[in-house]
Amino acid sequence: MLKVHDLVTYYGSSQALFGVDFEISQGQVATLLGRNGMGKTTTINSIMGIVSARSGSITFDGIELIGQASFKTANLGIGLVPEGRQIFPNLSLRENLVATASNHLKVDSPWTLEKVFSLFPELEQRRGSMGNLLSGGEQQMLAIGRALMTNPKLLVLDEATEGLAPLVRQKIWAAIHLIREQGVSILVVDKNLKDLLRIADRNFIIERGKIVWSGTSPDLRKDEDALHRHLGV
Ligand code: ATP
Repeated sequence: MLKVHDLVTYYGSSQALFGVDFEISQGQVATLLGRNGMGKTTTINSIMGIVSARSGSITFDGIELIGQASFKTANLGIGLVPEGRQIFPNLSLRENLVATASNHLKVDSPWTLEKVFSLFPELEQRRGSMGNLLSGGEQQMLAIGRALMTNPKLLVLDEATEGLAPLVRQKIWAAIHLIREQGVSILVVDKNLKDLLRIADRNFIIERGKIVWSGTSPDLRKDEDALHRHLGV
């Protein structure tokens, strides 16, 4: 479904990605793991066209994404939950959900406000509240709901539970499990290794802009050397 091959990205003259390679199949949950500053966000932003890749290839269902505008990538079925959530502060919660809603791929039972509210019941009673008045947890649930309202085939979460209280984090993970059960593929970045490994089919560790390890969650749990060397755990 998503194939990233030899992806090279620079910020000005500073190289951030040095040939990233990985693939995600339909229905899979994949994680991108790595210490701070290793290139996780840059990889995600290169996929979304938010930063321009210098070379390599990123295909989604066989379509090349490099050089394509972000909105076109979104229309192909990639939904982003960005780092920092990026909720529209001066729109209400409901308006945040409908502002970018679409069904470009004409899926049979598209996401609706009701479906998002049944995934995250806490959002319903806040539907009239402005984005900037929501708590961090509510904003993260809203960011996930907003991405789902575009009916993505692949949901990309950058820092899925960063800065959230443990109870809210568990709600987010439970929702991610439910989203996966609906057949949506997921690429997720987070610091909480335990929760990530519980949901992932495949894990990719990035170090200094290159994938240095890939494998299943049982493989990674067993590989103490990789955990210690690449993730410092
Ligand atoms: P974190 O977990 O801290 O977000 P990350 O793995 O997502 O880390 P990136 O944010 O992708 O890492 O950063 C990769 C490299 O690119 C780092 O060396 C970082 O300093 C550099 N970098 C990131 N954003 C920029 C930018 N806007 N301008 C210049 N360099 C950047």
